[in-house]
Amino acid sequence: MRRIVLASRPDAAPVPDNFRLEETAMPTPGEGEVLVKVEYMSLDPYMRGRMSAAKSYSAPVEIGETMTAGAVGEVIASNSADFAPGDKVLGMFGWADHGCLPASQLRKLDPSHGPITTALGILGMPGITAWHGLNKIGQPKAGETLVVAAATGPVGSLVGQLAKAKGLRVVGIAGGPEKCKLATETFGFDACLDHRAYEDAKALSAALQDACPDGIDIYYENVGGKVLAAVLENMNAFGRIPVCGMIAWYNGAGADDMPLAAAWRSILTKFLTVQGFIIFNHYDTFPQFIEEVGPKVGAGELRYLEDVAEGLENAPETFISMLKGGNTGKQIVKIA
Ligand code: NDP
Repeated sequence: MRRIVLASRPDAAPVPDNFRLEETAMPTPGEGEVLVKVEYMSLDPYMRGRMSAAKSYSAPVEIGETMTAGAVGEVIASNSADFAPGDKVLGMFGWADHGCLPASQLRKLDPSHGPITTALGILGMPGITAWHGLNKIGQPKAGETLVVAAATGPVGSLVGQLAKAKGLRVVGIAGGPEKCKLATETFGFDACLDHRAYEDAKALSAALQDACPDGIDIYYENVGGKVLAAVLENMNAFGRIPVCGMIAWYNGAGADDMPLAAAWRSILTKFLTVQGFIIFNHYDTFPQFIEEVGPKVGAGELRYLEDVAEGLENAPETFISMLKGGNTGKQIVKIA
């Protein structure tokens, strides 16, 4: 089998040399284990954090270890009564073309919910992230205004659609005019601003003021950086900020875009509620999420975009590009 391991840790943005493609022996499933041929693998921003040795909510990938990833594929051998060859499953198989895991760590996929790739995006980890952060922390109410960046990605696009369905005004922020068009035309956002078109937070803040005439009640935070600085200037009193991600800072640069004193002052003087969360702590609500969102995806009421790269060997460059906004929709790699 083939796999991609972490060859070295990045100093700033990851580079191809941080990864190494290896051939290794095909695993043999032990008692209660299942062997899976991977069909599609997910690439997600959190993987940048796993490449660093810094202490975080999850252990880093060690040098020489297979890069972490969720993936979907077909069971080819099973020593568990719960799975049979031919079953389609989701598991943390890593950046690899095969994976062997205990049956307890696999989820059987329901084909009635749509293509199996949706288990990596709108009906998987990014989907429940959007749903949880918006509803449990954002506390959306009809008539309010929500802003979300990375608006065409799997998290941002679902946040926007769920908020629209609840009667909010939804303003996206995305990289480039094409993505902004997708946000409004495909995902139904009321407006979308291209963060690249504004040279600094002040210019973006002025544009946000026009796009959000009643101010901002919920900022679903995916990016940090100058977007955060611009949004804070426009937040309403008692606004809520679910802190989901801060991708603008993942490579260690750009901290000056948002001075801490200014952020603290906004939180204090506007009585903001700011709450971070890591979705892996909230999977107890997965059945509720699927019950609510699954049928709407199946019926086409909630839309999603996928960006499918080809071949395990292309995963490193696809990942590097995604961190800079090279993806349009959920980034997936087709393996088999
Ligand atoms: P996306 O598919 O949206 O990919 C990331 C996007 O971030 C890029 O396409 C790009 O979009 C945007 N981006 C990159 N750099 C910048 C920048 N400097 N300024 C503004 N935008 C930038 O990712 P996901 O939907 O999977 O994830 C969105 C966020 O949610 C990430 O921060 C991720 O880490 C976080 N997350 C958090 C979880 C949690 O448990 N807390 C779980 C899952 C995701 P564009 O070109 O439009 O700018």
